[in-house]
Amino acid sequence: MELFRPCDPIDLSVVIPVYNESANVGPLLARLLPVLERITPAFEVVFVNDGSHDATAAVIAEHNAREPRIGAVCFSRNFGKEVAIAAGLDHARGRAVVLMDADLQHPPELIETFVARWREGNVMVYAQRLDRSGESALRRSFAQLFYRLFAQFGEMPLPEGAGDFRLIDRKGVEVLRALPERARFSKGLYSWIGFRSVGVPYAVEARHQGETKWSFRKLFRFAFDGITSFSTVPLRVWTYLGGTIATLALLAALYFVGEYLFRGPNVPGYASLIVSVMFFSGVQLMSLGIIGEYIGRIFAEVKRRPLYVVAERIGPAAAGQSGGV
Ligand code: UDP
Ligand code: MG
Repeated sequence: MELFRPCDPIDLSVVIPVYNESANVGPLLARLLPVLERITPAFEVVFVNDGSHDATAAVIAEHNAREPRIGAVCFSRNFGKEVAIAAGLDHARGRAVVLMDADLQHPPELIETFVARWREGNVMVYAQRLDRSGESALRRSFAQLFYRLFAQFGEMPLPEGAGDFRLIDRKGVEVLRALPERARFSKGLYSWIGFRSVGVPYAVEARHQGETKWSFRKLFRFAFDGITSFSTVPLRVWTYLGGTIATLALLAALYFVGEYLFRGPNVPGYASLIVSVMFFSGVQLMSLGIIGEYIGRIFAEVKRRPLYVVAERIGPAAAGQSGGV
């Protein structure tokens, strides 16, 4: 640890969010370090320990004792991957920052291609996965639906198959760090900041150890966050739908009045009454829910809570600047 001088200029930082990945840290570093060594000796690896319950922190500390360029920022609890990435960007000091997962699904060797593209003048170099064949059909079709919706209604399209595995130049990192929003949907933010970007195709590998940390519920939440962060269409759509339904209801009312006048009272119709009452209550509840989503978001923003709380630091990451507490 004492070998490390915080004033060393760092060429490349690799930020890796980890949540209960003690079995993956070793194998990952074994593959990652030789790659980084080939690129530049002035690198750092910043793990963001997202409140792991297992030995992840201890394993990182062990590696840090042998290789001081490896360090970690440890959260006080699980804040989620998006926040972990934000913290990683806050603490990384490199002229370029690579974001990658700990489970070896992101092949470290690709970083060499990233760096080559970065040297060509790209601010953002993202890995683009060629096929999602390793995922379940259900998950794949939901992902596809999400990208379509986002392209249609979001403020800007997302490159398809691009995830968090990417290299960002310092320029881009500073812009991302300056974005104040608490509900982080980084895929959207990466596109939003603009700059010259390029995709590098790759094949996703199987998870080395353990299970994915994303439940279907978490993914749905994530997609919903994405849409609501980058689009107000979910809010506006209810105005149109409400208007259309109200017009139809008015026409129906006219029809019923006419029917009453010309044919006399007609008792049957109980079923349609119930159906329409239920339908309209449903629509109202849904639109209230959508408005609630946005108000909840405003609430989260106005509270101005820090994005994350750091409990402990291991190695060089201690020298980093903090956007949290
Ligand atoms: N991760 C995290 N916090 C979480 C969930 C995941 O830091 O709450 C990390 C995890 O340790 C891994 C990366 O994010 O390094 C990607 O997670 P995972 O492999 O579970 O996601 P998937 O590859 O299935 O999208
Ligand atoms: Mg994974």
